[in-house]
Amino acid sequence: MITIDGSEGEGGGQMVRNSCALSLVTGEPFRIENIRAKRTKPGLMRQHVTAVEAACVISGAECTGLAVGGSELTFRPGQVVPGEYHFAVGTAGSTGLVLQTVLMPLVLANAPSRLVLEGGTHNMLAPPFDFIERAFLPIINRMGPQVSARLVRHGFYPRGGGRIEVDIAPAPLLPLTCTTRGPRTGEAAQVVVSGLPFAIAERMLARVRRDLPDWPESAFTLRQLPADQGPGVILMLEAQHSEVTELVSGFGQLGVPGERLARTSAARMNGYLEASAFAGPYLADQLILPFALAGGGAFSTVKPSQHLLTAIDIAQRFTGRRITIEQAPGGEHQVTFS
Ligand code: AMP
Repeated sequence: MITIDGSEGEGGGQMVRNSCALSLVTGEPFRIENIRAKRTKPGLMRQHVTAVEAACVISGAECTGLAVGGSELTFRPGQVVPGEYHFAVGTAGSTGLVLQTVLMPLVLANAPSRLVLEGGTHNMLAPPFDFIERAFLPIINRMGPQVSARLVRHGFYPRGGGRIEVDIAPAPLLPLTCTTRGPRTGEAAQVVVSGLPFAIAERMLARVRRDLPDWPESAFTLRQLPADQGPGVILMLEAQHSEVTELVSGFGQLGVPGERLARTSAARMNGYLEASAFAGPYLADQLILPFALAGGGAFSTVKPSQHLLTAIDIAQRFTGRRITIEQAPGGEHQVTFS
């Protein structure tokens, strides 16, 4: 039984989700204490509970302590059973984070699966659907499995009500070496708005246009969804390179001016474009699970986040493999799996 102090390192929900995924693949039971102890609302939130429930449902795992607000959890994995599953995150909890929990176990199963996930699709502090589809899944698909995802309906915080569908054709994960982005092949700046004044979206787009002056006019688009999918607004900036796509998002928040959101997102995108590393900060922590389970390979990334360091720590404990980070002369960091 692996014991994890959930307040160490980054101390967030990712420790719980990654532990469930790794436990299902390696067969190692675990116990996690002090879950999200340093967060303003400590303990498990609804979306974490749904993620762990999903891990139990696909495997018959036994879990004690699973409740909203719970701070200790014991998880004994069972045999993963591929198939069709439907998980609904009660509030606008992130569908992407539930997917993070069950994807690797299903990708490594012995038959295909189909997932229907309902809840939030574009939430703060979680990968938006577009990031999963265009930044994360293409790399998984290069490793062997074939995973395709469709966005059926958007779901924004706080209303939720979104739906994504995911088809998974399993295969062993092959090690990849991802140290260069390759040449730039395109860019896109899109604002998606629903149930809010269109002028907000126009102002956000005008601001990013100013801050990304070398992006062509055709890269900037506005999409208005039916009002019943909102209220919500999201800005997504996408830099496509031949080997990887980075997607920076700015989530509309009550009380935060659209221009400020646009300025921050453009600055983050400009930061990524000035660097040369393969993975941006979010992609980097999300690649730890598949790379650790592939048992080899390497990728380069921008400055390591706490999420990345914590994901590495947890993956090393479950797989017994060594994962190192070294700073390369150009300032990028090389993450190597052995
Ligand atoms: P946690 O904060 O522990 O619940 O983990 C959040 C997860 O969501 C991490 O895997 C992050 O990489 C991911 N994430 C958060 N914000 C974004 C974003 N804007 N784009 C992509 N992934 C994100």
